[in-house]
Amino acid sequence: MAEPGAECSIKVLCRFRPLNQAEILRGDRFLPVFQGDDSVVVGGKPYVFDRVFPPNTTQEQVYRACAMQIVKDVLAGYNGTIFAYGQTSSGKTHTMEVSYFEIYLDKIRDLLDMTKTNLSVHEDKNRVPYVKGCTERFVSSPEEILDVIDEGKSNRHVAVTNMNEHSSRSHSIFLINIKQENVETEQKLSGKLYLVDLAGSEKVSKTGAEGAVLDEAKNINKSLSALGQRHLSKAYVPYRDSKMTRILQDSLGGNCRTTMFICCSPSSYNDAETKSTLMFGQRAK
Ligand code: ADP
Ligand code: MG
Repeated sequence: MAEPGAECSIKVLCRFRPLNQAEILRGDRFLPVFQGDDSVVVGGKPYVFDRVFPPNTTQEQVYRACAMQIVKDVLAGYNGTIFAYGQTSSGKTHTMEVSYFEIYLDKIRDLLDMTKTNLSVHEDKNRVPYVKGCTERFVSSPEEILDVIDEGKSNRHVAVTNMNEHSSRSHSIFLINIKQENVETEQKLSGKLYLVDLAGSEKVSKTGAEGAVLDEAKNINKSLSALGQRHLSKAYVPYRDSKMTRILQDSLGGNCRTTMFICCSPSSYNDAETKSTLMFGQRAK
């Protein structure tokens, strides 16, 4: 396997959703000022990314700007990962459109077989980590993929917190394994695409979490900071810090194409969270 960081590229894209009804009714201010197509100013400070998408950007425009390229890379044999990072209700799930297995309290649950509630991470003979016993489905069309996603979605565990909307306190990971064989040359090519819809990045204090929900929030923060550190120092990759980063070791190691969506609310009410989310995105670059 290639050294971590070798031949790796990461793109950080930032997307702002529109003000929602509750925010408009409350009279919240619209914070971001967009400059060109790669910069946004919040509180007088500019934040620069590979691309910045203002609220009026369509799903199709987002897809064309990034997903298409990553899908092409995966078909060419790269390991691709698309992350969505941001506070609850900032547009992560909306941007991924997919949501499988989930990691909740650092336990891995199979979303396609609810009897499997605590799966473990193993390594294959090439030392590539995988989730042992996780359900695999063979699909041959995009429609079949969407059916599997719907099944996983309806099984997804959601703990309720007292944020405005119900907050998703678990990471969900959707893995698409692509194997191609040229029938004439018998040459084989494989690539993986991970779609990672991260748990809300908001501070525990704001959600007023207690007990199990608090433990879970700490686990989530551990996973997210391990993810951030990976980019701070390419020499030291704290993969073992959490199950999530271990599973992603393969996709974040050599030969990878990573895209991170930084999702933000435009509302003045979320000023502090938006700034910390933008800072996280800048550090990941
Ligand atoms: P998260 O997954 O970050 O908690 P969601 O993706 O569920 O947030 O988004 C919260 C709400 O805002 C949803 O009702 C979603 O449809 C809406 N929303 C998010 N992003 C956009 C956008 N770019 N344009 C329009 N509506 C959006
Ligand atoms: Mg979500």
